[in-house]
This record gives sequence, structure tokens and C-alpha cells, in this order.
Amino acid sequence: MASENNVYMVIGGNGFLGRHIVQQLLDRGDLVSVFDIVERYNDVQFYAGDITDQESIASALRKSGTTCIIHTASPHATLNNPALFHKVNVEGTKTIIAAAVETGVRKLVFTSSAGVAFNGADVIDADERVSFPKVPMDAYNDTKAKAEVAVLEANGKGGLLTVALRPSGIFGPGDRQAMSGLYQVYERGQTHFQIGDNTNLFDWTYVGNVARAHLFAADKLDNQPPAPPLSALEKIPMTVDE
Ligand code: NAD
Repeated sequence: MASENNVYMVIGGNGFLGRHIVQQLLDRGDLVSVFDIVERYNDVQFYAGDITDQESIASALRKSGTTCIIHTASPHATLNNPALFHKVNVEGTKTIIAAAVETGVRKLVFTSSAGVAFNGADVIDADERVSFPKVPMDAYNDTKAKAEVAVLEANGKGGLLTVALRPSGIFGPGDRQAMSGLYQVYERGQTHFQIGDNTNLFDWTYVGNVARAHLFAADKLDNQPPAPPLSALEKIPMTVDE
């Protein structure tokens, strides 16, 4: 069902996850536009631009009348380019926040990553209270963590409500990263390597479910359920890596 009075902009909406979010918003009858550096579809209003350019985001937000931003834009995690990660993930996210506050956007949902809480050691039964590792896994996850902090610190600024989600590996139709990476491993004949004793676990989530989580987060931001009692949360065991 379409959410009342919201106009959505999916930043990075022409990417793998972003496109599923756009499709689900369209399916429930919501108004949605896309802001991206790449143009791929022609069924929604498209704004071409880079998230590091505040005027281009602010102008798109004004023209579209956006009230809720879903920000999924990021360079691919597999790129070896710390400067680009910093520019897009940290500076770009701060630029989006500034443009959102400038134009009176009410809600911002940010796609972070489970990797922000990972440094190579096991993370078991963790929830959102798990702390960032002292030494980040890599530049990508370091910049996703910094972006997440900026988004959460912006909550309440100029009336903006914010939330960050931390998906783990995402699979499903439209993926350009996971399957091609696995296929390259196969093509290079590297399938006979094993890391660990074959008991390692890794979380994967279907892209449609990750997209749905973004819609739920947006819907609940200004309509929150009552918080569970602290005693219920304290029962959850966590392994926090230092
Ligand atoms: P994707 O590359 O398919 O989509 C990202 C989109 O962002 C692309 O359309 C790209 O053009 C756009 N973009 C990149 N830089 C931009 C810029 N400077 N300005 C405007 N647009 C820009 O990636 P995805 O797999 O859909 O990932 C979406 C989000 O989910 C990312 O934030 C990523 O960090 C996060 N994430 C992905 C996975 C995964 O397994 N794919 C796991 C955890 C978190």
C-alpha cells in the first residue's frame, strides 16, 4: 500500500539494490524518482548527478518535492580506491545530509553494510549495539562506518529523521558483483583453495528482502513501534571484536 504523503528519491536507484527498492515503491503505488551517475531505466523521473555535488542533489530534491531519501549509492566494495571511497561514501553522504536539511526532507534511510562491524574475526549473534572494530577491515568498510555515523548524528537536524541498515551479502536478479566474482574464481581455476576448516558461515540475504527492509525502515521512521523493555535486549549474546 502506498505510504501517505511521501515522495521518494532513491539515490543510487539505478544500481542492483536501488532498482529493487524503486520497483517495490512503484508496485505499492508510491511516487519515486532516481538520482544516480548512471542512467539505466526510463520508467521513473531520473536526475543525473554525483552525490558529492550538493547543488545538483538539492536541485533534484526541490524539483521532485522529495520527502524521503533512500541512499544506496556507493562505489563497488571490490574497487581498490580508498580516495574514491572517502569522496563518495563519506563526503557524498555528508553532502546528501546537507542537501536534505537545506530542502526540508523529512526522512533519510541509508544503506550501510554489515562489514562496518567486521575486522576479520568472528561476529556472532551481533545486533546494532555492536561497536566498530578499532582497526577497520578495509577502506570501503571504514568509509561506510563513517557515513553511517554521519547519518545517525544527523537525526533530528532540521527535523530530519534518519536510520541506517547493515545488510550483509546481497544476492538475486540484477546482481553485478557477487555472481561475477564467483564466476571469475571458477574461470581462474581457483576453486581448489579452502580458507579455514570449511565451517565458516557468511550471511546472504535475497535482494527483495533487503529492499523490503528499506521500505519498512522508511515507513517506521516517523511511526515507530514502542521500544522493547531493556531487559529483553540484555538477553541477546554478542561477540564484539576489539
Ligand atoms: P551498485 O553498484 O549496483 O549500486 C550503486 C549505485 O550507486 C549505482 O547505480 C551507481 O551508479 C551509484 N553511484 C555510485 N557512485 C555514485 C555517485 N558518486 N553519485 C551518484 N550515484 C552513484 O551496488 P549495490 O550492490 O546495489 O549496493 C547498494 C548499496 O548497498 C551500497 O551502498 C553498498 O555499499 C551496500 N551494500 C551492498 C552489498 C552487496 O552485497 N551488494 C552488501 C552490503 C551493503
